[in-house]
Amino acid sequence: MGNLLQNLLSAEDLAKNFDESKPSYNAQEALDEANRCLYCYDAPCIKACPTGIDIPGFIKKIASGNLKGSAKNIMEANPIGASCARVCPTEELCEGACVLNNSTKPIMIGDLQRFATDWSIKNEQVLFNAGEKNGKSVAIVGSGPAGLSAARELARLGYQVTIFERKEEAGGLDTHGIVPFRLPKDISLWEVEQVEQLGVEIRTNTEIGKDMIADELIDNYNTVILAAGMSTVPMLGIEGEDLGGIYDAIELVEKTKNKNYPKEFAGKHVVVIGAGNTAIDGATTSVRLGADNVQILYRRTETEMTAYEFEYEFAKQDGVEFRWLTAPKRLISDHGGHLKQIECVRMELKEMGNGERPRPVEVKGSEFLIDVHILVKAIGQTRHMHIIEAFDLEHNGGVVKVDPETYVTSNPKVYAAGDVIFGKGIGEAMVVSAAQQGKETAYAIHQQLKDSCTESA
Ligand SMILES: Cc1cc2nc3c(=O)[nH]c(=O)nc-3n(C[C@H](O)[C@H](O)[C@H](O)COP(=O)(O)OP(=O)(O)OC[C@H]3O[C@@H](n4cnc5c(N)ncnc54)[C@H](O)[C@@H]3O)c2cc1C
Ligand code: SF4
Repeated sequence: MGNLLQNLLSAEDLAKNFDESKPSYNAQEALDEANRCLYCYDAPCIKACPTGIDIPGFIKKIASGNLKGSAKNIMEANPIGASCARVCPTEELCEGACVLNNSTKPIMIGDLQRFATDWSIKNEQVLFNAGEKNGKSVAIVGSGPAGLSAARELARLGYQVTIFERKEEAGGLDTHGIVPFRLPKDISLWEVEQVEQLGVEIRTNTEIGKDMIADELIDNYNTVILAAGMSTVPMLGIEGEDLGGIYDAIELVEKTKNKNYPKEFAGKHVVVIGAGNTAIDGATTSVRLGADNVQILYRRTETEMTAYEFEYEFAKQDGVEFRWLTAPKRLISDHGGHLKQIECVRMELKEMGNGERPRPVEVKGSEFLIDVHILVKAIGQTRHMHIIEAFDLEHNGGVVKVDPETYVTSNPKVYAAGDVIFGKGIGEAMVVSAAQQGKETAYAIHQQLKDSCTESA
C-alpha cells in the first residue's frame, strides 16, 4: 500500500483507497486469455464450480465476440455470477481444476467471468424473463446470494416471490460485508436489479421477527425460504469490551461499503482478533483507513488459520503483521474510557487425538501488554437464533437442520439455504455455495408444488 497515511489528507483520496483494487481486462487481454483455453471435453473446471457454469462455453463466446451470450451463460447457472467473478476462491475451485495447471498457468476464469458480466452491466442488458404466473407464492427471508438466487429461479418458474430484507438495501453480505476494494457495491446491486426486473418484490427495511411475525409468512404464502445468513461478530468475553475504539469487523466493512470512512484509524496502531477471512478483511480495511500498524492476533498458528491462501498473501502484501499463539485476556482503558492496551497471553497447542484440531491452552505466567488504539473483533459470526426459534425450526447450535437433497427444514412449509445451514462441519460459507443452494431450493420447491400449480393456475 506504500505510504498510505500521506494519501489520507482528503476524503477523496481516502475513497480512492477503497476503489476496486484489481484492474479488469481490456478487450485484447480478454481475447488473448480466452484463446488460451483448450475447451476441454468433460471439462474439470465445470465440475469444480459449485454452480456448474459451462466455463469453456462462456469463454468460447468471449473469443467469438458474443459477450451477451457469454454473460447469459454465466448468469444462467449462477444468478450471483458477477459478484462471484470477484470473490470466489478460484484457486481452490474452477481455476484449481484447470488442466493447464500441469503445464503453464490456469486460465484466469474469474477475470474472464468478470469481463463478460461487466460488459452486461455496462450495456444494461436484460438477460432473463419471468415465467408465466402459476398462482403460487413464496416468501423469502433475506436478500443475500441464497435468497436472490432462489428468487430468480422461482420467478422464472412463474412464482410470485416476495423477499423480506431488514436492511435498507438488498444483496446481503455482497452489498454490505465483502470489502469494496474486492467487490464494489454496484455489482451486487446490479444482481439485485436483475432479480427485481423479473417482478420479484423486495421489501427492504422489513425485519421478520420484529416488523412482521414468522407466522404471517407461513399463513400467507405457499412456502417460505429462510435465507437470513449469519449475524454479527460474537463478544470476546473479556474485560473491557465496552471501551471506545472497539469495532466489529463486519460493521467496519459495512461502513466503508457505504463510503463512511471512520477517521480515527489514521496513524493508529490496530489489532485484529481472529484469523479467518473476516479478520483479513478487517485488517486490510484498517490499512486503507490509514492505520500506521496493523497486527492480527491468533491463538493458534499459521497452519490452523482458516483464511484463504490468497487472502493471507493479500494481507501480507498490505504490511499486516501476524502474531501466532497469542490471545487477548483483558482490554485496558486510558483515562477517557478509550482502549489503550491489551493484556495478552501466550498459547500452546495441545494435541487432542481422535483427529480433533489441536486445542490452544494458556502458557501460565506468559502475560504481556501490547499498546493499541483500536481493536477489531473478527472471531466468526453469531447466529440469528430469534428468527430460527420464531419459525420453530430444529437446529444444531443455530445451524438450521435441512434435508440435504431438498433443503426442507423440520417444518415442511419452510426451506432454508445459505449461511443459515452452514456450520458444524457442514458446507462452506461462500457466495457461490449460497447461490447454488438457493437455486436447488427453488427447484425442490417447484418439485413439491408443481402439480398443484397446474391445478390452480
Ligand atoms: C467479512 C466477510 C467476507 C467474506 N468474503 C467472502 C469472499 O471473499 N468470498 C466468498 O465466497 N464468501 C465470502 N464471505 C461469505 C459470504 O459472504 C456468505 O457465505 C454469503 O453471503 C452467504 O449468503 P446468504 O444469502 O446465506 O447470507 P447473507 O449474505 O448474510 O444474506 C442474508 C440476508 O438476510 C437478511 N436478514 C437477516 N435476518 C433477517 C430478518 N430477520 N428479516 C429480514 N432479513 C433478514 C440480512 O440483512 C442479509 O441481507 C464473506 C463473509 C464475510 C462476513
Ligand atoms: S462462479 Fe466461482 S467457481 Fe464458478 S466458474 Fe465462476 S469464479 Fe469459478
